[in-house]
Amino acid sequence: MTVPVNGLVPANGPVTGRGSCAAPRRRTRGSEGLLTQKRAAGPEADPYFPAHGDTRYRVHRYELALDYRPASNRLRGTARLSAVAGGAALREFALDLAGFRLQRVVVDGRAAHYTHRAGRLRVRPAKAVEAGAAFTVEVHYTGNPQPLGSQWGGLGWEELTDGALVASQPIGAPSWYPCNDRPADKASYQISVTAPSVYTVVVSGRLLSRTTGASSTTWVYEQAAPTSTYLVSVSIGRYEPVQLLGGGSVFAPRRPVPQTGYVPAGLRREFAVDFGRQTRMMDFFEDVFGPYPFDEYTVVVADEELDVPVEAQGLATFGSNHLGGQRRSERLVAHELAHQWFGNSLSIGDWRHIWLNEGFAKYAEWLWSEHSGGPSAATHAATAHAHLARLRQDLTLGDPGRRLMFDDRLYQRGGLAVHALRQALGEGAFFRMLRGWTAVHRHGVVTTARLAAHAAQYTSRPLAPVLDAWVHQPALPPLAEPDA
Ligand SMILES: [Zn+2]
Repeated sequence: MTVPVNGLVPANGPVTGRGSCAAPRRRTRGSEGLLTQKRAAGPEADPYFPAHGDTRYRVHRYELALDYRPASNRLRGTARLSAVAGGAALREFALDLAGFRLQRVVVDGRAAHYTHRAGRLRVRPAKAVEAGAAFTVEVHYTGNPQPLGSQWGGLGWEELTDGALVASQPIGAPSWYPCNDRPADKASYQISVTAPSVYTVVVSGRLLSRTTGASSTTWVYEQAAPTSTYLVSVSIGRYEPVQLLGGGSVFAPRRPVPQTGYVPAGLRREFAVDFGRQTRMMDFFEDVFGPYPFDEYTVVVADEELDVPVEAQGLATFGSNHLGGQRRSERLVAHELAHQWFGNSLSIGDWRHIWLNEGFAKYAEWLWSEHSGGPSAATHAATAHAHLARLRQDLTLGDPGRRLMFDDRLYQRGGLAVHALRQALGEGAFFRMLRGWTAVHRHGVVTTARLAAHAAQYTSRPLAPVLDAWVHQPALPPLAEPDA
């Protein structure tokens, strides 16, 4: 499958093909084989991915201990999940996990019966879990992880020429660990990865320890903030850490967010230019979106070309092709950083609401452009509008369907919908609304209806017609004139 490449287009760029930060496929590969979507997990199953996730319980913590050998692409894992049953007793429940060999499944310390087919691990505990009761599941597994096929190419764990990376959006997480794979079931994570000592292992979260043995090193990371399954990321490669220094100013002193790049040694100089303004960007986004929601921000630049960068929790992964020493991909630097607020801290209730991630990240590109001396957001909006006006108008932003959820029109129209809110609310109220949105739902779950209810608090005028036209109708509304 050929994936359109739009990673290097300028800010006003061609607006066709797939938008940035669906899973970043390597340019050379072309896997296929659609995931099965037959069995629904329950009445609240994700409408786009009914075969993923189980709404009968929630996971609040994952503890993963992984051993990975890049030379043979061999993964040995133990996953311990701490979960809580919902309103009914659980005689059985399901986890999502790709085709690994299972050694053992244990529920509350007792071996459980299970079946494992078509990416679903169905577990029957020796004793049913009572309604509302906490329980633990332990899964021991081994195998050769590989990306799960999808319409967007392979998703999840991907072996690289020399290492591996994980890019799971939207449903690639089961390619490497057993999980309740739905974006609203957010949990904390502790992840330990053992790999040959020549490699650096970078995982979403804070490094707790690094212990070197005879030939292997074990890296332990903790992500305390609630995290969606698809936003957990691992990168294994020959990377060097680069600290990005800056943040705050004499006029607005603040604690700078620690920002680190993990970069192939030969790309350090280009990285310093291409990400040279990221600390300023962080300051600006904290001003307009509110405090950065995590403890640190990490950028991995893989030693491979990727179609598009991709966000993870407190982290983003770029390809070597996104560097060039001329800041030509700076809009993508802004886009991925903005996802830390929109998508990662505020996660969508299900995939119908993907525009709440991508529309706000697109608008962040335009805001950064405006702030950093480039074209204004209004200019970007006019360009995007003119372009969309020439394209088919069969995409409903608030429920685009699985096929179109990463269509570039969704990104552009999402940015335009945010711009329409700015015009409807006016400057002061719009930015108060944005900061309120990220504060009220920090580390939570959001939907389009929640945004509508939230934004309505910032104006006495009816907002419903604006949101209805932009979000719920496929026809492209006219671009409103700014308020006089
Ligand atoms: Zn994005």
